This record gives sequence, C-alpha cells and structure tokens, in this order.
Amino acid sequence: MHEPAFHITWREGELLYQPLTNRITNQQTGEVHSVIRQQKYPVIQKAAHYEPFCLTVFLSHLCNLNCSYCYTGENKHVPLTTFPTAALPGTAEWIAGSCAKRSMPFILGFHGGNEPLLFPALIDEVLTICKATADEKQIELLPYCTTNGVLDRETVIWARDHFHGMTLSWDGAADIHDTHRTKKSGTATSDIVQQTADMLKDHVPRFKVRATVTSRSASRLPEIVEFFHRQQIRNIEFYPVYQDLKGSLDFNLKPDPGDFVRHFLAARKLGRSLGMSIGFAASRMEHFHHTFCPIFQENLTVTPDGCFTACFLATHNENDEFARCMFGSIDTATKEPQFDRDSLGSLLSILAKSPEQCQSCFNRWHCAKGCPEICLLRSSGQEQFDCRMAKWIGLANIFEAAGLEITDHQMQYCEEFFESINIRERTAE
Ligand code: SF4
Ligand code: SF4
Repeated sequence: MHEPAFHITWREGELLYQPLTNRITNQQTGEVHSVIRQQKYPVIQKAAHYEPFCLTVFLSHLCNLNCSYCYTGENKHVPLTTFPTAALPGTAEWIAGSCAKRSMPFILGFHGGNEPLLFPALIDEVLTICKATADEKQIELLPYCTTNGVLDRETVIWARDHFHGMTLSWDGAADIHDTHRTKKSGTATSDIVQQTADMLKDHVPRFKVRATVTSRSASRLPEIVEFFHRQQIRNIEFYPVYQDLKGSLDFNLKPDPGDFVRHFLAARKLGRSLGMSIGFAASRMEHFHHTFCPIFQENLTVTPDGCFTACFLATHNENDEFARCMFGSIDTATKEPQFDRDSLGSLLSILAKSPEQCQSCFNRWHCAKGCPEICLLRSSGQEQFDCRMAKWIGLANIFEAAGLEITDHQMQYCEEFFESINIRERTAE
C-alpha cells in the first residue's frame, strides 16, 4: 500500500512529510521527527455505525448579549423554545450505552446559539438525567459548557461546581473586547467577564478562553496573549471571525490572512515561552480532523426544538429552514431518539467529501477545509476559496514538528515566505 508523502522545499531546506505515519524527514540532515497524535486516522462513520459518545445540547435561542459578529442573528426571530428535557432519558441512555461499549466517559456539552447559563435549572435537569444514566452504566459523566461570562455571581459559583470544562468567550483587554461584545443595551461587558474568569480559572479543571479575532485585533495578538498572561489564563483558542449563513458580517471585519498568521505565530511563540497553550482550531496537527460537523466528532447535537443537527450553525428547525441539516429528533411521546437513517447516510456521504482544492492538499488531514464558510451542503465544492490562514499555519506546524524555527525575517515577510514554499506530492516506496 502506498502512503501519501509531500516534498516541502524552500530556499534553505527540504522536508519529506508523511502525514499518515506521522513522519517528517529533514532531507538535509536525515533526521526523522515524529508527530505525537492523539488518535488514529478516523474512519468516517457509515450511518449504520453512528454511535456517538458525546451529547451536545443547545438549550434555547436566548442570549443576553448582542455581539456584532454573532453567527446566529436570525435566531432573534425564532420563537423562544427550551430544550425538551423530559424526553431526554432515551437519548441519554443510547449515548451512555455507546460510551460503555467503548469504555469511554460520557461527554455532555452545552453551547450553540444561546447563553446556556441563563437556564441553570434546565442544565441541572439535563445533568441529573445524564448522571443517572452514566452511573447505571458505570461510566464517568464529564460535563462541559461554553459561556459569554456575563452572569451573576451565584450562577458562576453554581457553574464552577458542576462543570468539568468551561470555555469563556473573551476577546482580550476592554478596548478590544467591548468593541463587539456588548449587552443588548450597548453596555460594555469586559469588567464582568473578567470577574467571571477570576472565579472560574482555578476551579474548573479544563478552563479555556476563546477569543474571536477581527481585522482590528489581528495585529494585537501578542498583546492579547500578554493580557491573558497577566490574568493567569493558560489556555487560549484564537479564531478569526467568520461569515454567518445570511452573509451579514461586515466583510471589513475579516482579518487579512498575512496579518493573522504573522501575529498568531508570534503570539503562540510568546505564549509558549510563558507556559501557555495557544490554539487555532482550523488547522491542528495533534489531531486528525475534518470539518467542524458534529457528526464527525462522534457528537449527537440536539437543538432546542429537539432535532438532531449535523451542523453547529443550524441551531433550530422551527420552520424547516434547516431541514437539510437534520437527521432525526427526540420523540417527546416515547422519549426515544428517532433517527432518519436515510438523511444521516446522505449527510455523512456529502460532508465526508472535501472541496476540490483540498483533495490533493498536504494539510487535508489536519484542516477544517473552509468550514463554516465553505460547506458542501451549500456548494458544489468546485469553487476556489482563500484558505491561506489554514495552509500557512499547517506549514508552520510541520516546521515546528521538525524542530525548525521560523526566523524573525521569515515572520516579518510571512506572506512571501509561505508563498515561496514549494509542495509536491509523491508516492513513497
Ligand atoms: S461543513 Fe457545513 S455542515 Fe459541517 S459544520 Fe461546517 S458549515 Fe456546518
Ligand atoms: S489548507 Fe486549504 S486546500 Fe488545504 S485542506 Fe485546508 S482548506 Fe483545503
């Protein structure tokens, strides 16, 4: 059997990159480097074998903020529905059964198109049901939650006692954060987010900050890392702002790829020197990954109206608007999950493919392939799109895994440097 291998050549050197066997060979020195991977290359599941070990619940469409770059603008017009908790036991049992079969913990998440912690009582009901089911199967329940952090003190204390992991949306110092993340009244939120972080950071075992990056903040990424270091935050995920399904994001907010990559790499280097972990989810070398579709993360994601969604952007199906993304629902009468296996099979077969430009790319095992802006449910995948951020960070990850440092000069002219790298696929013997 042949495995893919890529010659990566630039002015000063040459690497041979073999992604499936985790090998990078420095062709000049002969040194071989291995990439530490957290799992084997995943087989994309067939509908009949879809057995997720994670359950993600979108509790409602309600949020207390009015962030100017939010991807769920249209949810403001959706009636307020809250998750059908009473009908959850059958679905929870099915997930717990799948976890027990694989000797894995039951991962339960709350996020998606709302602020989950506006409903602690509802979360408590879901936790109680899932914990009882996990206990019955003798597996661990690990609950996670994302939050905007604009919460009262009592709720934060409650949350830190209930979650194994929390992700806080926080973009940096006040002048950066408050530009986009305001209350509906327009009031700034950074002070209260900082108080929330102070209460969570040393109590929640897996605590992380997710910072959205715009054209205004891209050049300030190292400064943002310093800010978070002063706040004693150790784990940060940067993500450039993306377009929503209606195309309502101001195009000028999108960061320039060169600007983002140059400052992201500088911020990552600085963060590591300070003992921090700095991530970019769209191109991760430590995982084999595809798009952000929950179905490929072995995650059953359920909307407030009880539908099973294949897409994290499709947070409801109140008026059949997202019927294309749905593959079943919780039956409120029988309290059992009802899968539409034909829809699931069709979604898996469409979404498992890659856009045309990704099909021969060196980075295709470690890239989100343009998701969510590029999606094979919405396009043929034949159009060209700009993926320089993912490609260049993918290359930087390979350099780093091979023990090569990108020099200050290369960083300064990072567009020219990355564009000058020649990548050629060959079949290894
Ligand atoms: S690839 Fe499409 S369906 Fe999957 S998460 Fe991205 S936008 Fe959603
Ligand atoms: S770097 Fe670009 S071409 Fe390569 S897999 Fe990612 S999106 Fe596709």
